[in-house]
Amino acid sequence: MALYQDLTKPAAKGPGGRPACVLLDQVTVYTRLVASNKLVYRCLGAPMGCTKNYPVNRDKDRVLKHASTCQYLPQELRQAVNSSQAQQAPSVLVEKLAANPSAVASSRRDGRIEVFLGPQKPSGTPASQPTPGDASQPSVQEIAKKEGKKQLRVKLDSAIVNLICVGGIPPRVADLDEWKTAWTTANSAYQPASRSTIEDVHIPSEASAVDEKQLDFLRTQSNLTISFDGGTLKSTQANTTIHVITEDRRVFFFDGIDSTGFSHTGDYYYECLVNVCAHPQRSDCRCHSLSQL
Ligand SMILES: [Zn+2]
Repeated sequence: MALYQDLTKPAAKGPGGRPACVLLDQVTVYTRLVASNKLVYRCLGAPMGCTKNYPVNRDKDRVLKHASTCQYLPQELRQAVNSSQAQQAPSVLVEKLAANPSAVASSRRDGRIEVFLGPQKPSGTPASQPTPGDASQPSVQEIAKKEGKKQLRVKLDSAIVNLICVGGIPPRVADLDEWKTAWTTANSAYQPASRSTIEDVHIPSEASAVDEKQLDFLRTQSNLTISFDGGTLKSTQANTTIHVITEDRRVFFFDGIDSTGFSHTGDYYYECLVNVCAHPQRSDCRCHSLSQL
């Protein structure tokens, strides 16, 4: 923490601008780098050892992507970030559209898609109804066409993130002209998401959605077994993987923890696993180290 001199976040300059994201201010702290005098936002987990910091115009998606997996943040905060992220997962947007015929797919300023459950955006001004002969108003056909394009995009975004994750395809493929040409040739109404959107929004939010579903299922199960194992990557980065096994022997990958720089003692593993037990909110968990089996 000697690296930083924490400051009070400056007040917003007048009305307007994007609505504040409460989570963003909960997981970052406005600060000054002592060495360079540069103003940045640091991760809230810096006192615990996190070294992540962001420029003052921090990108919401990148901050929340880090916060959803930062092991130095309080468990409840990580959970809140994950729940928020899960709502924007491509597969969840598809489910919302399928389950609610009145749901509206809306484009954000940055070109990404959100789905609202209702005929209007919650914060939007109700659209005036077109009157016959009013050339300034879009026709019903134009509105339907626009809405159809957004729904197509939601569905294809979800299909692509599944293809990339299940196929182990590096997201950099989305930057290739050949990739873009393939999709726009198949349907000129669809512009595929960029690599940064796939990496910073689609995949992390989809992972959060899978986590939520997995937790919902595990909370219904009894006699859970938690297994853990330590390992080292080629980059010499140490990691601990944690799996949860149900009574009928279904195995769920639960977490991968960066263990670099930590002594892998019993106390360390206890700290890792006690958080896992808190997740399913069950007391009937047993733990086994794979290295001792
Ligand atoms: Zn962090």
